[in-house]
Amino acid sequence: MRRLRRKLKNSARMSYIAETESPSRGGVLHRYGDRIPDVGPNTPLISLGEGDTPLVRSRRLHDQVGCRELYFKLEMCNPTGSFKDRGMVVAVAKALESESKALLCASTGNTSASAAAYAARCGLDAYVLVPHGNIARGKLAQAVAHGARILDVRGNFDDALRLARLISEQHPVALVNSVNPDRLEGQKTAAFEIVDTLGDAPDLLFIPVGNAGNITAYWRGFVEYYRAEIATKKPRMMGWQAEGAAPIVIGKPVDNPQSVASAIRIGNPASWRLAEAARDESGGEINAVSDDEIIEAYRLLAREEGIFCEPASAACVAGLLKYARNPGTGHSSLSTQIIVCVITGHGLKDPETALGIDSEVREVEPNIEAVVEAMGLTT
Ligand SMILES: *Cc1c(COP(=O)(O)O)cnc(C)c1O
Repeated sequence: MRRLRRKLKNSARMSYIAETESPSRGGVLHRYGDRIPDVGPNTPLISLGEGDTPLVRSRRLHDQVGCRELYFKLEMCNPTGSFKDRGMVVAVAKALESESKALLCASTGNTSASAAAYAARCGLDAYVLVPHGNIARGKLAQAVAHGARILDVRGNFDDALRLARLISEQHPVALVNSVNPDRLEGQKTAAFEIVDTLGDAPDLLFIPVGNAGNITAYWRGFVEYYRAEIATKKPRMMGWQAEGAAPIVIGKPVDNPQSVASAIRIGNPASWRLAEAARDESGGEINAVSDDEIIEAYRLLAREEGIFCEPASAACVAGLLKYARNPGTGHSSLSTQIIVCVITGHGLKDPETALGIDSEVREVEPNIEAVVEAMGLTT
């Protein structure tokens, strides 16, 4: 933000607009391309307006947690409704630069939604391998709408990713899963934005962990800003898996991962070792929360904060509430801490989960007496 403002102040506004496909938000490549080693003079600065997402302060959960400041980084506000766009824009730009004609990914949904959108925008074919019966409706709708070739693999996410890797080795398609290093490079820009907005790094970062690319990317971003002396500290990285899909917590792959949070229902994370390194180097933790805790946090966010996210995103807030109840010894009191929770994806992605929770829709006759009575306004 600060960099951008400086840019605008230097009356470079006109050239800034001319250079980017997203005059209103800049886009990840335009704003931070100089901090992404692979982005060079021949990389097309494509954009759908990803990045520059809101950092909003908590109004209610803040008191429950008892920390100094609590913020939510609304990554659900990216163009396809999840943080995946930050890395996808870099991966697709590199695919264009190397003259690839097609993208391939395995996905629990958001990666395919993002790949499909950027492929459509850039005139590439997109192939997505989705685990059978394991993709939220909204995400599937996005891939369909953008015209991706969707293959429903009779297996889980880990099977789909293994196949995608093999196919990309044998055929001329660009693999855009987070095993693609450009993805993590794009995703680290969210950490830059947090520092640019707050003026320094937070003390703690709470984040859901699935394939473990995002926790890795944030850590890289915070470390780079620290080394560049833009931040004076680095946060402790607090990662959260779902209990039924917690390979990093239990220390071995999970064959049949289960959770209401489909985006983190992953049994053998691709960035496992890197996530452990982020945890250990930052003095952080990776723990698990139950589906009940996830749904409780999901409801609280929607009802107390006005934030409708997908269940996977709520996992980190469930983790924060759990941690606040029992922070352990040897760390500063939460009352001095500035905390950011990463709200990774939009609630509209997964309408079934929302409607499955005590949905209150009452039918009424179309007259004022009946409606007023149903509203509870009569005494
Ligand atoms: C992909 C995703 C995650 C998990 O991120 P990883 O990088 O796989 O750990 C969490 N939440 C949402 C909404 C996602 O789309």
